[in-house]
Amino acid sequence: MTSRPLPHLTDEQAQRFVVDARPWMSCDECFEHLDEYLDCSPTTDFEWLPAMTAHLTGCQVCREEVESMRLLLADTN
Ligand SMILES: [Zn+2]
Repeated sequence: MTSRPLPHLTDEQAQRFVVDARPWMSCDECFEHLDEYLDCSPTTDFEWLPAMTAHLTGCQVCREEVESMRLLLADTN
């Protein structure tokens, strides 16, 4: 029985994981800013926006929430 070798991470890849985790935002905070996030224009510069973008990249739950909210808003407009 042979065990599969673990994938080896280069320093650069490991560094990317660290960078991706910052700035950190919780799901609760993410939901708090959801309305503003969907309202804001691309030029709006909220201080939490980078954290929100990073969170949505890594959190499928919140990403789906944003998508369904977006569809709702598109429906009512
Ligand atoms: Zn989340």
